[in-house]
Amino acid sequence: MHPLAKLDHRYLWHPFTQMHDWLKHDPIVIVEGTGARLRDTYGREYLDANSSIWTNLHGHNHPRINAAIRRQLAKIAHSSALGLANEPASLLAEKLVEAANPPATAQTASPRVKRAPQGLVRESRMPPGWKPVLNKVFFSDDGSTAMEVALKLAYQFACRSGHSRKPKFLTLEGAYHGDTVGAVALGHIDLFHAAYSGLLFKTDKVMAPFCYRCPFNRAKPERGDARDYRKCDWECVGKLEQSFAAQRKRGSPYTAFVFEPLMQGAAGMIPQPAGWLSRAAEIARANGALLVADEVMTGFGRTGFGGMSSNPRLPLPLTQSASLFACHHEDVQPDFMALAKGLTGGYLPMAATLTTETVFNSFLGEYGDFKTFFHGHSFTGNQLGAAAGLASLALLQTTSSLRARQRLELALFDALQTLWHCPNVGDIRQVGLVAGVELVRDWRTREPFDLRERAGIRVCETMARLGVLTRPIGNVVVVMPPYCTTPAEARRIVTALNQAVMGLSKGR
Ligand code: PMP
Repeated sequence: MHPLAKLDHRYLWHPFTQMHDWLKHDPIVIVEGTGARLRDTYGREYLDANSSIWTNLHGHNHPRINAAIRRQLAKIAHSSALGLANEPASLLAEKLVEAANPPATAQTASPRVKRAPQGLVRESRMPPGWKPVLNKVFFSDDGSTAMEVALKLAYQFACRSGHSRKPKFLTLEGAYHGDTVGAVALGHIDLFHAAYSGLLFKTDKVMAPFCYRCPFNRAKPERGDARDYRKCDWECVGKLEQSFAAQRKRGSPYTAFVFEPLMQGAAGMIPQPAGWLSRAAEIARANGALLVADEVMTGFGRTGFGGMSSNPRLPLPLTQSASLFACHHEDVQPDFMALAKGLTGGYLPMAATLTTETVFNSFLGEYGDFKTFFHGHSFTGNQLGAAAGLASLALLQTTSSLRARQRLELALFDALQTLWHCPNVGDIRQVGLVAGVELVRDWRTREPFDLRERAGIRVCETMARLGVLTRPIGNVVVVMPPYCTTPAEARRIVTALNQAVMGLSKGR
Protein backbone atom coordinates (compact mmCIF):
# COMPACT_ATOMS: atom_id res chain seq x y z
CA MET A 1 0.00 0.00 0.00
CA HIS A 2 1.25 3.49 -0.83
CA PRO A 3 2.47 5.37 2.29
CA LEU A 4 -0.17 8.09 1.71
CA ALA A 5 -2.89 5.45 1.55
CA LYS A 6 -1.58 4.03 4.83
CA LEU A 7 -1.82 7.45 6.45
CA ASP A 8 -5.35 7.80 5.15
CA HIS A 9 -6.31 4.44 6.61
CA ARG A 10 -4.74 5.27 9.93
CA TYR A 11 -6.19 8.77 10.42
CA LEU A 12 -9.01 9.75 8.10
CA TRP A 13 -12.76 9.40 8.40
CA HIS A 14 -14.43 9.90 5.02
CA PRO A 15 -17.83 11.55 4.42
CA PHE A 16 -20.83 9.39 3.56
CA THR A 17 -18.57 6.33 3.68
CA GLN A 18 -18.90 3.04 5.52
CA MET A 19 -15.38 3.03 6.92
CA HIS A 20 -15.50 -0.73 7.53
CA ASP A 21 -15.66 -1.18 3.75
CA TRP A 22 -13.22 1.63 3.07
CA LEU A 23 -10.54 0.02 5.22
CA LYS A 24 -10.75 -3.22 3.20
CA HIS A 25 -9.49 -1.55 0.02
CA ASP A 26 -6.39 0.23 -1.15
CA PRO A 27 -7.79 3.75 -1.70
CA ILE A 28 -7.17 5.76 -4.86
CA VAL A 29 -4.98 8.66 -3.74
CA ILE A 30 -5.32 11.61 -6.11
CA VAL A 31 -2.19 13.69 -6.55
CA GLU A 32 -3.00 15.87 -9.55
CA GLY A 33 -5.59 16.77 -12.13
CA THR A 34 -5.81 18.55 -15.46
CA GLY A 35 -9.01 19.29 -17.32
CA ALA A 36 -11.43 16.42 -16.84
CA ARG A 37 -8.66 14.03 -15.76
CA LEU A 38 -7.34 13.06 -12.34
CA ARG A 39 -4.10 11.20 -11.65
CA ASP A 40 -3.26 8.99 -8.66
CA THR A 41 -0.05 8.15 -6.80
CA TYR A 42 0.74 5.35 -9.27
CA GLY A 43 0.32 7.62 -12.30
CA ARG A 44 -3.01 6.04 -13.26
CA GLU A 45 -5.38 8.42 -15.01
CA TYR A 46 -9.13 8.72 -14.47
CA LEU A 47 -11.93 10.78 -15.94
CA ASP A 48 -13.66 12.83 -13.25
CA ALA A 49 -17.22 11.81 -14.13
CA ASN A 50 -18.85 13.43 -11.12
CA SER A 51 -16.92 16.72 -11.25
CA SER A 52 -15.43 16.02 -7.80
CA ILE A 53 -18.82 15.73 -6.15
CA TRP A 54 -20.57 18.20 -8.48
CA THR A 55 -18.23 21.11 -7.82
CA ASN A 56 -15.89 21.40 -10.78
CA LEU A 57 -17.05 23.39 -13.78
CA HIS A 58 -14.20 24.18 -16.16
CA GLY A 59 -11.80 21.34 -15.34
CA HIS A 60 -8.91 20.96 -12.92
CA ASN A 61 -5.85 23.15 -13.01
CA HIS A 62 -7.52 25.73 -15.22
CA PRO A 63 -4.92 28.35 -16.19
CA ARG A 64 -7.34 31.31 -15.80
CA ILE A 65 -8.56 30.31 -12.35
CA ASN A 66 -5.06 29.34 -11.22
CA ALA A 67 -3.78 32.75 -12.33
CA ALA A 68 -6.62 34.59 -10.59
CA ILE A 69 -5.89 32.78 -7.32
CA ARG A 70 -2.15 33.42 -7.67
CA ARG A 71 -2.74 37.13 -8.30
CA GLN A 72 -4.93 37.33 -5.22
CA LEU A 73 -2.50 35.26 -3.15
CA ALA A 74 0.23 37.78 -3.90
CA LYS A 75 -1.97 40.41 -2.22
CA ILE A 76 -3.70 38.62 0.64
CA ALA A 77 -5.35 35.23 1.23
CA HIS A 78 -7.91 36.18 3.82
CA SER A 79 -9.14 39.02 5.97
CA SER A 80 -12.34 38.93 7.96
CA ALA A 81 -15.66 40.18 6.58
CA LEU A 82 -16.69 40.94 10.15
CA GLY A 83 -16.04 44.67 10.22
CA LEU A 84 -14.06 44.84 6.97
CA ALA A 85 -14.80 44.95 3.26
CA ASN A 86 -12.56 43.47 0.59
CA GLU A 87 -12.03 43.84 -3.14
CA PRO A 88 -12.81 40.44 -4.69
CA ALA A 89 -15.86 39.79 -2.47
CA SER A 90 -17.43 43.11 -3.50
CA LEU A 91 -16.66 42.52 -7.18
CA LEU A 92 -18.02 38.97 -7.02
CA ALA A 93 -21.22 40.10 -5.30
CA GLU A 94 -21.84 42.55 -8.15
CA LYS A 95 -21.28 39.85 -10.77
CA LEU A 96 -23.52 37.37 -8.96
CA VAL A 97 -26.34 39.91 -8.80
CA GLU A 98 -25.96 40.52 -12.53
CA ALA A 99 -26.04 36.79 -13.26
CA ALA A 100 -28.98 36.10 -10.94
CA ASN A 101 -31.11 38.83 -12.51
CA PRO A 102 -30.76 38.25 -16.24
CA PRO A 103 -32.49 40.72 -18.57
CA ALA A 104 -35.56 38.51 -19.14
CA THR A 105 -36.09 38.49 -15.38
CA ALA A 106 -34.94 42.03 -14.71
CA GLN A 107 -37.28 43.53 -17.31
CA THR A 108 -40.20 43.00 -15.01
CA ALA A 109 -38.19 43.09 -11.86
CA SER A 110 -36.77 46.57 -11.43
CA PRO A 111 -37.65 47.76 -7.93
CA ARG A 112 -38.06 51.27 -9.35
CA VAL A 113 -40.75 50.08 -11.75
CA LYS A 114 -42.66 47.75 -9.50
CA ARG A 115 -41.53 47.89 -5.93
CA ALA A 116 -42.34 45.00 -3.66
CA PRO A 117 -44.37 46.02 -0.63
CA GLN A 118 -42.78 45.70 2.78
CA GLY A 119 -43.71 42.56 4.60
CA LEU A 120 -43.89 39.03 3.35
CA VAL A 121 -44.11 38.83 -0.42
CA ARG A 122 -47.60 37.86 -1.47
CA GLU A 123 -47.63 37.28 -5.18
CA SER A 124 -51.42 37.21 -5.22
CA ARG A 125 -51.33 40.89 -4.28
CA MET A 126 -48.44 41.75 -6.58
CA PRO A 127 -48.85 43.36 -9.99
CA PRO A 128 -48.81 40.78 -12.79
CA GLY A 129 -45.31 40.03 -14.02
CA TRP A 130 -43.65 41.24 -10.83
CA LYS A 131 -40.53 39.37 -9.85
CA PRO A 132 -38.15 39.79 -6.94
CA VAL A 133 -34.75 41.32 -7.58
CA LEU A 134 -31.94 39.38 -5.93
CA ASN A 135 -29.57 42.20 -5.10
CA LYS A 136 -28.12 41.34 -1.70
CA VAL A 137 -25.44 38.70 -1.24
CA PHE A 138 -24.53 36.94 1.99
CA PHE A 139 -21.37 34.83 1.64
CA SER A 140 -20.72 31.63 3.55
CA ASP A 141 -18.73 28.43 3.14
CA ASP A 142 -20.64 25.62 1.43
CA GLY A 143 -24.04 24.48 0.27
CA SER A 144 -25.24 23.61 3.74
CA THR A 145 -24.36 27.00 5.19
CA ALA A 146 -25.87 28.79 2.19
CA MET A 147 -29.13 26.98 2.96
CA GLU A 148 -28.84 27.67 6.71
CA VAL A 149 -28.58 31.36 5.87
CA ALA A 150 -31.63 31.22 3.59
CA LEU A 151 -33.57 29.38 6.27
CA LYS A 152 -32.67 31.79 9.06
CA LEU A 153 -33.31 34.86 6.92
CA ALA A 154 -36.70 33.57 5.76
CA TYR A 155 -37.61 32.66 9.34
CA GLN A 156 -36.66 36.04 10.74
CA PHE A 157 -38.22 37.91 7.84
CA ALA A 158 -41.54 36.12 8.37
CA CYS A 159 -41.48 36.92 12.10
CA ARG A 160 -40.58 40.56 11.53
CA SER A 161 -43.12 41.15 8.80
CA GLY A 162 -45.87 39.79 11.04
CA HIS A 163 -46.55 36.88 8.71
CA SER A 164 -46.12 34.33 11.44
CA ARG A 165 -44.71 33.87 14.91
CA LYS A 166 -44.08 30.22 14.09
CA PRO A 167 -42.94 30.18 10.46
CA LYS A 168 -43.47 26.87 8.68
CA PHE A 169 -41.58 25.52 5.71
CA LEU A 170 -42.85 23.30 2.93
CA THR A 171 -40.22 21.11 1.30
CA LEU A 172 -40.14 18.30 -1.24
CA GLU A 173 -40.09 14.57 -0.71
CA GLY A 174 -36.55 13.33 -1.22
CA ALA A 175 -35.15 16.83 -0.67
CA TYR A 176 -31.51 17.25 0.27
CA HIS A 177 -30.20 20.65 1.31
CA GLY A 178 -27.04 19.80 3.25
CA ASP A 179 -25.85 18.23 6.46
CA THR A 180 -25.90 20.99 9.06
CA VAL A 181 -28.85 20.63 11.41
CA GLY A 182 -31.08 23.31 9.86
CA ALA A 183 -30.39 22.04 6.36
CA VAL A 184 -31.10 18.47 7.49
CA ALA A 185 -34.47 19.63 8.88
CA LEU A 186 -35.35 20.81 5.37
CA GLY A 187 -34.36 17.44 3.91
CA HIS A 188 -36.28 14.22 3.53
CA ILE A 189 -33.94 11.36 2.76
CA ASP A 190 -34.56 8.87 5.53
CA LEU A 191 -31.33 6.97 4.98
CA PHE A 192 -29.33 10.12 5.77
CA HIS A 193 -31.68 12.02 8.03
CA ALA A 194 -33.66 9.61 10.22
CA ALA A 195 -30.76 9.19 12.65
CA TYR A 196 -30.98 12.88 13.56
CA SER A 197 -34.75 13.17 13.91
CA GLY A 198 -34.45 14.06 17.59
CA LEU A 199 -32.32 17.08 16.73
CA LEU A 200 -34.55 18.58 14.07
CA PHE A 201 -37.39 21.08 13.86
CA LYS A 202 -40.40 19.95 11.89
CA THR A 203 -40.90 20.83 8.25
CA ASP A 204 -43.73 19.54 6.07
CA LYS A 205 -43.02 17.62 2.92
CA VAL A 206 -45.07 17.35 -0.22
CA MET A 207 -44.95 14.98 -3.14
CA ALA A 208 -42.15 15.79 -5.56
CA PRO A 209 -42.45 14.81 -9.21
CA PHE A 210 -40.66 11.55 -10.00
CA CYS A 211 -42.16 10.39 -13.29
CA TYR A 212 -40.27 7.09 -13.43
CA ARG A 213 -41.60 5.91 -10.08
CA CYS A 214 -44.72 8.04 -9.80
CA PRO A 215 -47.71 6.15 -8.31
CA PHE A 216 -49.98 8.26 -10.56
CA ASN A 217 -48.12 7.48 -13.78
CA ARG A 218 -50.27 4.94 -15.60
CA ALA A 219 -47.76 4.35 -18.41
CA LYS A 220 -45.94 1.03 -18.65
CA PRO A 221 -42.12 1.21 -18.68
CA GLU A 222 -40.61 2.19 -22.01
CA ARG A 223 -37.06 2.57 -23.27
CA GLY A 224 -37.12 6.32 -22.94
CA ASP A 225 -37.29 9.16 -20.43
CA ALA A 226 -40.37 8.69 -18.24
CA ARG A 227 -41.02 12.45 -18.40
CA ASP A 228 -41.86 12.01 -22.07
CA TYR A 229 -44.12 8.96 -22.00
CA ARG A 230 -45.82 9.50 -18.63
CA LYS A 231 -49.60 9.30 -18.46
CA CYS A 232 -50.86 11.40 -15.61
CA ASP A 233 -52.99 14.39 -14.71
CA TRP A 234 -50.29 16.36 -12.94
CA GLU A 235 -51.33 14.84 -9.63
CA CYS A 236 -48.04 16.07 -8.12
CA VAL A 237 -49.13 19.65 -8.76
CA GLY A 238 -52.52 18.83 -7.27
CA LYS A 239 -50.83 17.51 -4.12
CA LEU A 240 -48.88 20.73 -3.81
CA GLU A 241 -52.04 22.77 -4.14
CA GLN A 242 -53.72 20.64 -1.50
CA SER A 243 -50.83 21.09 0.95
CA PHE A 244 -50.91 24.86 0.60
CA ALA A 245 -54.71 24.93 0.90
CA ALA A 246 -54.73 22.68 4.00
CA GLN A 247 -52.12 24.80 5.74
CA ARG A 248 -54.05 27.96 4.92
CA LYS A 249 -57.15 26.42 6.41
CA ARG A 250 -55.21 25.75 9.60
CA GLY A 251 -54.73 29.50 9.78
CA SER A 252 -50.93 29.51 9.43
CA PRO A 253 -49.97 29.64 5.73
CA TYR A 254 -46.55 28.34 4.80
CA THR A 255 -43.78 30.88 5.15
CA ALA A 256 -41.61 29.44 2.42
CA PHE A 257 -41.48 26.75 -0.21
CA VAL A 258 -38.02 25.23 -0.49
CA PHE A 259 -36.95 23.33 -3.60
CA GLU A 260 -34.12 22.18 -5.82
CA PRO A 261 -35.09 23.53 -9.26
CA LEU A 262 -35.35 21.22 -12.30
CA MET A 263 -33.54 18.31 -10.68
CA GLN A 264 -33.34 16.89 -7.16
CA GLY A 265 -29.73 15.77 -6.85
CA ALA A 266 -29.10 13.60 -3.82
CA ALA A 267 -32.62 12.16 -4.07
CA GLY A 268 -31.23 10.24 -7.07
CA MET A 269 -30.98 12.79 -9.87
CA ILE A 270 -34.73 13.16 -10.19
CA PRO A 271 -35.80 15.63 -12.86
CA GLN A 272 -39.00 17.62 -12.85
CA PRO A 273 -41.14 17.44 -15.98
CA ALA A 274 -41.27 20.64 -18.02
CA GLY A 275 -43.73 23.07 -16.50
CA TRP A 276 -43.71 21.64 -12.97
CA LEU A 277 -41.46 24.31 -11.49
CA SER A 278 -43.34 27.27 -12.94
CA ARG A 279 -46.65 25.81 -11.76
CA ALA A 280 -45.28 25.03 -8.31
CA ALA A 281 -43.84 28.54 -7.99
CA GLU A 282 -47.14 30.08 -9.05
CA ILE A 283 -49.05 28.08 -6.43
CA ALA A 284 -46.55 29.01 -3.71
CA ARG A 285 -46.73 32.68 -4.65
CA ALA A 286 -50.53 32.62 -4.74
CA ASN A 287 -50.40 31.33 -1.18
CA GLY A 288 -48.06 34.06 -0.03
CA ALA A 289 -45.02 31.83 0.45
CA LEU A 290 -41.46 32.90 -0.15
CA LEU A 291 -39.53 30.86 -2.70
CA VAL A 292 -36.22 29.39 -1.57
CA ALA A 293 -34.29 27.92 -4.50
CA ASP A 294 -31.41 25.62 -3.68
CA GLU A 295 -29.19 26.03 -6.76
CA VAL A 296 -26.21 24.46 -5.01
CA MET A 297 -26.06 21.60 -7.51
CA THR A 298 -27.97 23.10 -10.43
CA GLY A 299 -26.38 26.56 -10.55
CA PHE A 300 -23.74 27.98 -12.90
CA GLY A 301 -24.85 26.40 -16.14
CA ARG A 302 -25.15 22.81 -14.93
CA THR A 303 -28.72 22.46 -16.19
CA GLY A 304 -27.46 23.35 -19.64
CA PHE A 305 -29.34 24.51 -22.66
CA GLY A 306 -32.15 21.99 -22.90
CA GLY A 307 -32.83 22.78 -19.25
CA MET A 308 -36.32 21.54 -18.78
CA SER A 309 -36.39 19.39 -21.90
CA SER A 310 -35.61 15.68 -21.65
CA ASN A 311 -34.20 15.85 -25.17
CA PRO A 312 -31.59 18.57 -25.71
CA ARG A 313 -31.82 17.98 -29.46
CA LEU A 314 -35.24 19.60 -29.49
CA PRO A 315 -35.00 23.30 -30.39
CA LEU A 316 -35.74 25.73 -27.58
CA PRO A 317 -36.47 29.43 -27.36
CA LEU A 318 -33.28 31.47 -27.09
CA THR A 319 -34.20 32.89 -23.68
CA GLN A 320 -33.72 29.50 -22.08
CA SER A 321 -30.32 28.88 -23.57
CA ALA A 322 -28.50 31.65 -21.76
CA SER A 323 -29.68 30.82 -18.24
CA LEU A 324 -26.95 30.09 -15.71
CA PHE A 325 -29.53 29.11 -13.10
CA ALA A 326 -32.10 26.32 -13.26
CA CYS A 327 -34.97 28.51 -11.98
CA HIS A 328 -34.67 30.81 -14.95
CA HIS A 329 -35.26 27.96 -17.40
CA GLU A 330 -38.85 28.11 -16.15
CA ASP A 331 -38.91 31.85 -15.69
CA VAL A 332 -39.05 31.54 -11.90
CA GLN A 333 -37.29 34.12 -9.76
CA PRO A 334 -37.02 33.09 -6.11
CA ASP A 335 -36.70 35.30 -3.02
CA PHE A 336 -33.64 33.34 -1.87
CA MET A 337 -31.10 31.60 -4.04
CA ALA A 338 -28.45 29.38 -2.45
CA LEU A 339 -25.21 28.93 -4.40
CA ALA A 340 -22.08 26.93 -3.63
CA LYS A 341 -20.19 24.01 -5.27
CA GLY A 342 -19.53 25.58 -8.71
CA LEU A 343 -19.35 29.14 -7.37
CA THR A 344 -15.55 29.02 -7.36
CA GLY A 345 -15.40 26.71 -10.38
CA GLY A 346 -15.05 23.94 -7.79
CA TYR A 347 -11.74 25.24 -6.47
CA LEU A 348 -12.44 26.47 -2.96
CA PRO A 349 -15.20 26.17 -0.38
CA MET A 350 -17.31 29.26 -0.77
CA ALA A 351 -21.06 29.84 -0.94
CA ALA A 352 -23.56 32.64 -1.28
CA THR A 353 -27.18 33.26 -0.42
CA LEU A 354 -28.80 35.89 -2.60
CA THR A 355 -31.91 37.70 -1.49
CA THR A 356 -33.95 40.84 -1.98
CA GLU A 357 -33.72 44.37 -0.71
CA THR A 358 -37.06 43.82 1.03
CA VAL A 359 -35.60 41.03 3.15
CA PHE A 360 -32.42 43.06 3.74
CA ASN A 361 -34.41 46.10 4.84
CA SER A 362 -36.26 44.11 7.47
CA PHE A 363 -32.94 43.67 9.29
CA LEU A 364 -32.19 47.42 9.35
CA GLY A 365 -32.61 49.46 12.50
CA GLU A 366 -30.77 51.34 15.21
CA TYR A 367 -28.00 49.33 16.87
CA GLY A 368 -30.04 49.04 20.03
CA ASP A 369 -32.98 47.53 18.14
CA PHE A 370 -30.80 44.40 17.77
CA LYS A 371 -32.27 43.62 14.38
CA THR A 372 -28.83 42.58 13.10
CA PHE A 373 -28.59 39.27 11.26
CA PHE A 374 -26.68 37.41 13.95
CA HIS A 375 -24.96 34.88 11.74
CA GLY A 376 -21.54 34.59 10.11
CA HIS A 377 -18.48 32.44 9.55
CA SER A 378 -14.76 33.09 9.94
CA PHE A 379 -14.12 32.72 6.22
CA THR A 380 -17.15 34.67 5.00
CA GLY A 381 -16.18 36.61 1.84
CA ASN A 382 -12.77 34.92 1.61
CA GLN A 383 -10.56 36.66 -0.96
CA LEU A 384 -9.06 33.56 -2.60
CA GLY A 385 -12.49 32.00 -3.06
CA ALA A 386 -13.93 35.23 -4.41
CA ALA A 387 -11.03 35.63 -6.87
CA ALA A 388 -11.66 32.08 -8.11
CA GLY A 389 -15.39 32.82 -8.31
CA LEU A 390 -14.80 35.92 -10.44
CA ALA A 391 -12.55 34.00 -12.82
CA SER A 392 -15.04 31.15 -13.03
CA LEU A 393 -17.98 33.43 -13.80
CA ALA A 394 -15.97 35.22 -16.49
CA LEU A 395 -15.15 31.85 -18.06
CA LEU A 396 -18.80 30.80 -17.97
CA GLN A 397 -19.69 33.87 -19.98
CA THR A 398 -17.21 33.23 -22.80
CA THR A 399 -18.46 31.95 -26.13
CA SER A 400 -16.05 29.03 -25.99
CA SER A 401 -17.50 27.88 -22.65
CA LEU A 402 -21.04 28.22 -24.02
CA ARG A 403 -20.07 26.15 -27.05
CA ALA A 404 -18.28 23.52 -24.96
CA ARG A 405 -21.32 23.16 -22.70
CA GLN A 406 -23.67 22.81 -25.63
CA ARG A 407 -21.38 20.25 -27.27
CA LEU A 408 -21.05 18.22 -24.09
CA GLU A 409 -24.77 18.27 -23.37
CA LEU A 410 -25.49 16.79 -26.80
CA ALA A 411 -22.59 14.33 -26.63
CA LEU A 412 -23.80 13.07 -23.26
CA PHE A 413 -27.33 12.73 -24.57
CA ASP A 414 -26.27 10.74 -27.61
CA ALA A 415 -23.91 8.50 -25.61
CA LEU A 416 -26.45 7.83 -22.88
CA GLN A 417 -29.03 6.64 -25.41
CA THR A 418 -26.78 3.62 -26.05
CA LEU A 419 -27.52 2.38 -22.51
CA TRP A 420 -31.17 1.64 -23.20
CA HIS A 421 -30.21 -1.81 -24.48
CA CYS A 422 -29.03 -2.85 -20.97
CA PRO A 423 -31.80 -4.79 -19.19
CA ASN A 424 -30.54 -3.43 -15.86
CA VAL A 425 -30.92 0.20 -16.92
CA GLY A 426 -34.39 1.32 -15.87
CA ASP A 427 -34.23 5.04 -16.40
CA ILE A 428 -31.81 7.58 -17.84
CA ARG A 429 -32.47 11.06 -16.53
CA GLN A 430 -30.55 13.94 -18.07
CA VAL A 431 -30.98 17.63 -17.40
CA GLY A 432 -28.36 19.60 -19.27
CA LEU A 433 -24.92 18.52 -18.10
CA VAL A 434 -26.04 16.17 -15.38
CA ALA A 435 -27.56 12.72 -15.62
CA GLY A 436 -28.59 9.86 -13.37
CA VAL A 437 -28.82 6.28 -14.62
CA GLU A 438 -31.10 4.16 -12.46
CA LEU A 439 -30.19 0.49 -12.18
CA VAL A 440 -33.00 -2.02 -11.76
CA ARG A 441 -33.30 -5.78 -11.61
CA ASP A 442 -35.35 -5.73 -14.83
CA TRP A 443 -36.44 -2.69 -16.81
CA ARG A 444 -39.82 -4.29 -17.61
CA THR A 445 -40.83 -4.39 -13.95
CA ARG A 446 -38.82 -1.41 -12.63
CA GLU A 447 -37.98 -3.67 -9.67
CA PRO A 448 -35.17 -2.00 -7.74
CA PHE A 449 -32.06 -3.75 -6.46
CA ASP A 450 -31.98 -4.14 -2.70
CA LEU A 451 -29.53 -1.50 -1.44
CA ARG A 452 -27.60 -4.27 0.35
CA GLU A 453 -26.70 -5.70 -3.05
CA ARG A 454 -24.63 -2.54 -3.57
CA ALA A 455 -25.43 -2.50 -7.31
CA GLY A 456 -24.55 1.17 -7.71
CA ILE A 457 -21.36 0.80 -5.69
CA ARG A 458 -20.28 -2.27 -7.69
CA VAL A 459 -20.88 -0.49 -10.99
CA CYS A 460 -18.81 2.49 -9.85
CA GLU A 461 -16.01 0.20 -8.63
CA THR A 462 -15.84 -1.43 -12.06
CA MET A 463 -15.92 1.99 -13.73
CA ALA A 464 -12.97 3.06 -11.55
CA ARG A 465 -11.01 0.03 -12.76
CA LEU A 466 -11.86 1.20 -16.30
CA GLY A 467 -10.49 4.66 -15.54
CA VAL A 468 -13.71 6.54 -14.80
CA LEU A 469 -14.53 7.94 -11.36
CA THR A 470 -18.03 8.65 -10.17
CA ARG A 471 -20.26 7.84 -7.21
CA PRO A 472 -23.66 6.21 -6.97
CA ILE A 473 -26.67 7.45 -5.07
CA GLY A 474 -28.15 4.12 -4.06
CA ASN A 475 -29.03 2.44 -7.36
CA VAL A 476 -28.46 5.58 -9.40
CA VAL A 477 -25.12 6.21 -11.08
CA VAL A 478 -24.28 9.90 -11.47
CA VAL A 479 -22.83 11.18 -14.74
CA MET A 480 -21.79 14.79 -14.29
CA PRO A 481 -18.44 15.62 -15.88
CA PRO A 482 -16.73 19.03 -15.96
CA TYR A 483 -17.73 21.28 -18.85
CA CYS A 484 -14.32 20.86 -20.52
CA THR A 485 -14.97 17.13 -21.04
CA THR A 486 -14.70 16.40 -24.75
CA PRO A 487 -17.35 14.40 -26.63
CA ALA A 488 -14.81 11.55 -26.93
CA GLU A 489 -14.28 11.61 -23.15
CA ALA A 490 -18.06 11.68 -22.59
CA ARG A 491 -18.35 8.58 -24.76
CA ARG A 492 -15.57 6.89 -22.75
CA ILE A 493 -17.48 7.59 -19.53
CA VAL A 494 -20.65 6.05 -20.91
CA THR A 495 -18.80 3.09 -22.44
CA ALA A 496 -17.31 2.30 -19.03
CA LEU A 497 -20.74 2.59 -17.46
CA ASN A 498 -22.18 0.31 -20.13
CA GLN A 499 -19.49 -2.31 -19.53
CA ALA A 500 -19.93 -2.10 -15.76
CA VAL A 501 -23.71 -2.46 -15.95
CA MET A 502 -23.48 -5.40 -18.34
CA GLY A 503 -21.16 -7.10 -15.84
CA LEU A 504 -23.61 -6.53 -12.99
CA SER A 505 -25.68 -9.70 -13.30
CA LYS A 506 -22.55 -11.81 -13.83
CA GLY A 507 -20.73 -10.55 -10.76
CA ARG A 508 -23.47 -11.12 -8.18
N1 PMP B 1 -27.98 21.48 -1.55
C1 PMP B 1 -27.87 20.64 -2.58
C2 PMP B 1 -28.92 20.63 -3.65
C3 PMP B 1 -26.78 19.78 -2.67
O1 PMP B 1 -26.69 18.93 -3.70
C4 PMP B 1 -25.79 19.82 -1.65
C5 PMP B 1 -24.59 18.91 -1.67
N2 PMP B 1 -24.62 17.79 -2.42
C6 PMP B 1 -25.96 20.72 -0.60
C7 PMP B 1 -27.06 21.55 -0.58
C8 PMP B 1 -24.95 20.80 0.50
O2 PMP B 1 -23.76 21.32 0.00
P1 PMP B 1 -22.39 21.12 0.78
O3 PMP B 1 -22.04 19.67 0.68
O4 PMP B 1 -21.44 22.00 0.05
O5 PMP B 1 -22.61 21.55 2.18
